Amino acid sequence: MMSLIPILPSHTLFVRSLGHTDEERFATIFRDTCSKRPPEVYPPLLRYWRDGQAMETTFSKGPSPYIACELDWKGRDSAVAMWKDRSGSLRFWAPVVHILPDDLLAVLIAHEIGHAYRSATDLQCYPLDKDEAETRIMVSEWGFTEAKLSFWLFDHYGLTQRLEEEVAAGTWPQRCRSLAAAPQVLSALRMSRCSEGVHDFV
Ligand SMILES: [Zn+2]
Repeated sequence: MMSLIPILPSHTLFVRSLGHTDEERFATIFRDTCSKRPPEVYPPLLRYWRDGQAMETTFSKGPSPYIACELDWKGRDSAVAMWKDRSGSLRFWAPVVHILPDDLLAVLIAHEIGHAYRSATDLQCYPLDKDEAETRIMVSEWGFTEAKLSFWLFDHYGLTQRLEEEVAAGTWPQRCRSLAAAPQVLSALRMSRCSEGVHDFV
């Protein structure tokens, strides 16, 4: 049975434990990200989730909202994370969650929370690329440097492609376990600033 790892249990905020990454680490960083938020961000967002204004099937399956680190989801394409409007769900691509350094995982989480907040407060605008740009500016103003995450993803494009191949081949679970058994390799991957990390990984 799927278990729930607390993020903010007083606000029924949990991550679904699916076992594709270290979800305790993810929950800890999510909690830290929440604690660094501007004070105005969470009341409308928590109200939005609590009241089920974003009611959809994902809400009815457990405490709201659906937060999980998954290997794939409908409509993912090559996204590393996704906020689904009107469902309340926050999905993160488990392999990149696993590899991202802590500070950059916090940026990724803050970005998705940014989308959720904009939806909860009617700040969300169209077209969506305009909303994306405004979300990045807002999240950077919160103190989470979006540019650092973009540079990391650019620098590690080869690595993320390799991860896509591993997921497609069904070998990510073994890779995840082997990285857990070799923390120095995982640490080197997280710290790498260039494609050298790709060679370490292969
Ligand atoms: Zn976005």
